[in-house]
Amino acid sequence: MRIPELKIEEIRASANILDVISGYVQMRKRGKNYIGLCPFHQEKTPSFTVSEDKQIYHCFGCHSGGNVFKFLMEYRNISFVESVQEVAEMLGIKLSFDNETYTQEQTENELLYEINVLAAKFFSNNLFNSDDGEFAREYLKNRKIKLATQRAFGLGFARPEWENLLFYLKENNVDIEKALQLGLIDKRDDGGYYDKFRGRLIFPILSPNGRVIAFGGRVFENDAKVAKYLNSPESIIYLKRKSLYGLFHSKDEIRRLDKVVLVEGYMDLISLYQGGIKNVVASSGTSLTEDQVHLLSRFTKNITVLFDADTAGEKASLRSIEILLKQDFDVRVVSLPENEDPDSFINKFGKDAFEEKINHAKNFLEYQTAQYEKRGDFQDPVKQTAAIRELVKSAALVNDELKRNILLKSISKKFNLREKLLEAELDNFLTSERIKEIRAAEFKTISNEQKKDGLADSIKSSSLGSQFEKEIIALLFEGNTEVIGNVFDHILPEDLSTEQFKKLAQMVYENYLNDVTAPSALIEKIGDEETKNFIFSLALNKEIISKRWEEYSYNAGVDADLVQYSRDVIKKFSLIKIEQQIKENNEAITQLENENEIMDLMRLNKELTEEKRIVQNGSGGSL
Ligand SMILES: [Zn+2]
Repeated sequence: MRIPELKIEEIRASANILDVISGYVQMRKRGKNYIGLCPFHQEKTPSFTVSEDKQIYHCFGCHSGGNVFKFLMEYRNISFVESVQEVAEMLGIKLSFDNETYTQEQTENELLYEINVLAAKFFSNNLFNSDDGEFAREYLKNRKIKLATQRAFGLGFARPEWENLLFYLKENNVDIEKALQLGLIDKRDDGGYYDKFRGRLIFPILSPNGRVIAFGGRVFENDAKVAKYLNSPESIIYLKRKSLYGLFHSKDEIRRLDKVVLVEGYMDLISLYQGGIKNVVASSGTSLTEDQVHLLSRFTKNITVLFDADTAGEKASLRSIEILLKQDFDVRVVSLPENEDPDSFINKFGKDAFEEKINHAKNFLEYQTAQYEKRGDFQDPVKQTAAIRELVKSAALVNDELKRNILLKSISKKFNLREKLLEAELDNFLTSERIKEIRAAEFKTISNEQKKDGLADSIKSSSLGSQFEKEIIALLFEGNTEVIGNVFDHILPEDLSTEQFKKLAQMVYENYLNDVTAPSALIEKIGDEETKNFIFSLALNKEIISKRWEEYSYNAGVDADLVQYSRDVIKKFSLIKIEQQIKENNEAITQLENENEIMDLMRLNKELTEEKRIVQNGSGGSL
């Protein structure tokens, strides 16, 4: 389907991006813009910004951004045309179709989809209607896959010949280069082409919206010389890490039940679905990716992981669990009896027995413990320590503090260990795993306190001054000449409180005078490793800094925000310095006996108070 360019413009102009995005992400007003938690990456502090004025969105965390169509494409995993259609539908705009004017992008994608549909029909026809499809039909019958299920999942059969699909595609005037791009055919050394899928059962892989984006092919008999599964390579319409097999079929049921069952293979999924377990997706044999988990999280956060009992399956499941925990999923694990997979299990024991298994699924910690127990890790004291550490590490991945504590309690109970001991261990992981988030939270508290109590009160905590000093150092390593200049216009290296900071600032100052400001260049010039590491850790904190200058990002570009932000930091730092000086003077005044000295200090304080006022009002200087 093709939509004329002018129509697309009309739709774009009539749509309000805020209305569309608000349908998926909770947005709240901040200044001129709206902010919310980014749907494209995991975060706790909103960095996803929508501008109603400009009709664009941008995430300061993961840098995704674009217009209304781009948002729908990314969020829903749909094509450009689909996103235009969707917006048109929302607006009640009728689409007229035109075969002459259309954009390059949609043409490209649509052509690929069309080729895949053609191939899917070809494979399906082979399975259901061809004579040599009898073999495949018999196979599916033995696997107890009903005809209706075969049709529902669009199963197909690739014949063993080398140029079967190729011939069909040529007959239908398909651009062979495009079919090559989709991995349906491959190129011979002599320049000719041949079918990629031969002698295989074909599983079309669909987008969550039901478009054919790729194929999986399974051999009928296991043969060590041939790969059991063959999958389409990635293409512009198929990103492996972002697609889940079966989601198109199961998404409604997943949403309805608010839980999902994760299996490994195509056959597992199809058998369960046929058996009445319809809230199921398949990872296709590998461990889950973050993108897949993210995709899934739009439907539910409750998952039961079901993996084969072999070692590879267990490894994959442990890795998957880790990713799921990080995205706050409630994870349960089912291990099936030896030599059973979901496919064989449901065929043998039926739906009720399967549901029984699901209902008694262990939480991931119990599962992990059982794995270690099975390996005999708890017999050996050294291994036991390592195992417990691993368990605590898993618990540390859980974002929800309450859940985390419950898990910790259950570990301590199970192994008869003091909770305090485990807590210490947990803290270790938390500090390494979540150092950024914790720091972000600290920064937030500090700035909130300032708003609430005023600056004078908050400087009681001496760490605040050094906190700002840290930010000043961080600003010096942002690679922005204007910012560095601003800093040195108001702060001299010797104004900083520690030797390390003084030295660093001095080094940057000298380089700045020689026009060297690139962070990579500056870091190179740091002599000792400890300081270098400190700067690297500050660089990691950049995220926090950018979070804070997000507050300034109503209209201006990122660099302008940074400049504005640096002004604010410099101002606050200067105020802290002045107040500290006044406070010290006041203390000295109470100690001194010489009246002249007291008068001098009082005069000094008067000047400082005036200076403070000037800085605060932002007048009299460039601040
Ligand atoms: Zn993001």
